[in-house]
Amino acid sequence: MTISQIHKQLTGKEVSCKEMVRGFLDEIKKKDKDIHAYLEVDEEGAMKQAEEVDAKIEKGEEIAELTGVPIAVKDNILTKGFNCTAGSKILENYKAPYDATCIQKLRGAGAIFMGKTNLDEFAMGSSTENSAFGPTKNPHNEERVPGGSSGGSAAAVGAGMCVAGLGSDTGGSIRQPAAFCGVVGFKPTYGAVSRYGLIAMASSLDQIGPLANSVEDARIIFDAIRGKDGFDATSLDINPKSEARNSKQIQNIKIGIPKEYFGEGIDPEIKKSIEKAIKKYEENGAKIEEISLPHTDYGLAVYYIIMPSEVSANLARYDGIRYGLSKDADNLLDTYIKTRHNGFGAEVRRRIMLGTHTLSSGYYDAYYLKAQKVRTLIKREYEKAFSKIDVIMTPTTPTLPFEFGEKTKDPVSMYLSDIFTVGVNLAGLPAATIPCDWIEKEGKKLPVGLHIIGPQKSDYKVLEVAEMFKN
Ligand code: GLN
Repeated sequence: MTISQIHKQLTGKEVSCKEMVRGFLDEIKKKDKDIHAYLEVDEEGAMKQAEEVDAKIEKGEEIAELTGVPIAVKDNILTKGFNCTAGSKILENYKAPYDATCIQKLRGAGAIFMGKTNLDEFAMGSSTENSAFGPTKNPHNEERVPGGSSGGSAAAVGAGMCVAGLGSDTGGSIRQPAAFCGVVGFKPTYGAVSRYGLIAMASSLDQIGPLANSVEDARIIFDAIRGKDGFDATSLDINPKSEARNSKQIQNIKIGIPKEYFGEGIDPEIKKSIEKAIKKYEENGAKIEEISLPHTDYGLAVYYIIMPSEVSANLARYDGIRYGLSKDADNLLDTYIKTRHNGFGAEVRRRIMLGTHTLSSGYYDAYYLKAQKVRTLIKREYEKAFSKIDVIMTPTTPTLPFEFGEKTKDPVSMYLSDIFTVGVNLAGLPAATIPCDWIEKEGKKLPVGLHIIGPQKSDYKVLEVAEMFKN
């Protein structure tokens, strides 16, 4: 069900909110022992919220579009009443002391929080295999990963265990799992959604956004959570009116196809599906233009220097004193070491070490500073491209959902999953992924995601272009 369908059914009294929420809870009970999308489900709280919605409707009060809509929240977004583990042992028993700004906004709109969803530890990964609490499975083939790091939210939406979900995207963590689970994912312009209450991974790249069953639903949620926030100095307002264009203009948009995204390493079947999807836009009046983003090759390298640098700084706060796990030791230094050694998984430790190295004196200039310079070049290259075209289209991922264990032994092969998504974070751009095709593998259909990228603050335009796609 979509948000507008739910709204219609609730206001038309075709179904009570309690019945509807019960239906989703039943679905979770039935499916989630296998899929493991949720780390925590709040049955009682959800039913209580539903009861309040029913009472409102009974009294004839007007309800907002999101009122009564069951939402799943990635477990790195603080939501009062729930734990917030970030998928890590170090925060296993950490209770959210307050609501993140996006949660506060959704709560105000009457959304119902079903539970908290699984993720790679501190959002570091592309498969949820790095979660300290066990992986999530892909609802379309349980032998395969759901993507990551927002794999729990993507699987929950894909399996019908909620209507929409929230995720965070630092290098692709909304879009890649959305593509793997056959749902819509949207990463807004950097700052469009406040990061207040999001457990920080890499602050100059992190962005919260929706995962949903339709582009319309993603837009409704984005509308509700976006906006400038006094608690996040990098947050900004996006004017929906000035950016969105009418449908006739949208039909005649110019789409840039960067040739660097269709070369080596891409699954030929994905390439075919994406070309087919772009052709559909062309048939509807869009103009297609080949473009070049020559620094694409450096995106991953730049990301894997800047991101760990910020990770090493952000994760210094988990010291056994202030948050979560604390291991007793003879002195303070040993407390830090023991807590961090026991609390953090291998991938998190790897990135803290890498980041500490790239920020250390003598290496800072050679790595971090240089990466920042290339980051600027990447950003400029996009800006130049957008002076001639409206949006860029690429595949969201180079491969179909892969099998468990396939990439865990070689971190670099896992990092390559983000090759098409990280550039967007480095440049702070908005980008959506929509399921554009299904490919059969071992008798089961797996989804392909079409990636639509726009210039900064063109969030509504990106969503409009995404909405035009009819499968
Ligand atoms: N998969 C990427 C990484 O491991 C992206 C993570 C994210 O976007 N949170 O860093």
